[in-house]
Amino acid sequence: MQQPMCPVCGDVLSSSQRYVYTACTGCGSWIFISDRSAEEDNRSFYNAWSEQSSQLPYSYLKKKIFRFYSKRDKKTHVQMNREFDRLQRQIQDRLAGDKTIRVMEVGFGQGRHLAGLLQKGCDAYGVDISEEVVKAFQRKYPEYTDRVTADTTLHQKIDILYCSALLEHLDDPIRFIDSVTGCLKEGGFLIIHALPVLNEDTCDMSEEEDICFWKPCHRVIYSLEGLKWMLKEQNFALTDWQTIDPYNNRVLSMHLREGYSEIANIRHSCLRSDKLPSLYVYTNICREAITIRSRAFMGSFLFQKTRNPGTVTETGI
Ligand SMILES: [Zn+2]
Repeated sequence: MQQPMCPVCGDVLSSSQRYVYTACTGCGSWIFISDRSAEEDNRSFYNAWSEQSSQLPYSYLKKKIFRFYSKRDKKTHVQMNREFDRLQRQIQDRLAGDKTIRVMEVGFGQGRHLAGLLQKGCDAYGVDISEEVVKAFQRKYPEYTDRVTADTTLHQKIDILYCSALLEHLDDPIRFIDSVTGCLKEGGFLIIHALPVLNEDTCDMSEEEDICFWKPCHRVIYSLEGLKWMLKEQNFALTDWQTIDPYNNRVLSMHLREGYSEIANIRHSCLRSDKLPSLYVYTNICREAITIRSRAFMGSFLFQKTRNPGTVTETGI
């Protein structure tokens, strides 16, 4: 069998073992190798997940405990939260501040963010490769039927492309970026939101424990270098970015570390199940989660389209 290649930098991976993450020696990203497509893997996982977790009763006491320690976590990590919130406000200003800006959300999923932009009067559009997703949006928001399409060969010029929790789910991110960014004006922005990226500093989690590596959801956990290199090849320069270590992720990862392996299928900590921790253990998990650092963070990235790789143009929006 042919040796698999890194979808980020194109280097041949050192291992062809299926259903594990392999670190790319070229760019440092971690790649999940599977015989099935990302779409197939994700669909079968999410079907099983929604069936299982929807049957479990909600624990209001766990929610209370979670909220209590989540607030304490916010106070502990003030700087990280402040910087991340600053960038989120800046992104929302870019997307919705000027109504003459044309925005395209790629992979809009359930469409809440896209509908929010349209309800604010933005000149926003959505594209999704799934016809089902497009039709579901049109049923839910019939007034915005013309705003969504499954045709990724975009013909109109766009000022900002926005995607959230998307790139990590793709088998071939380069082909995807190539197909959608042709419509982006020079100087326009590609905003990549909620992307898991490696924490390359000290961390307290192994890859197996960290939720960003739970199979089979993410095809790539990008290194920052890998992400920048991949976008630079497509004529994009990174102009601003921030990462955050979400508290909820740390709580979920801690469940696995403490031996509650079923959490990888349930993926929600405030439910009642004999496969999940007691209130006493849950309290300890929530308390300890404040002090640990994940193997992967969640990032927001602003890339600007340039004429030449690595050169930021002056005609930014
Ligand atoms: Zn690579």
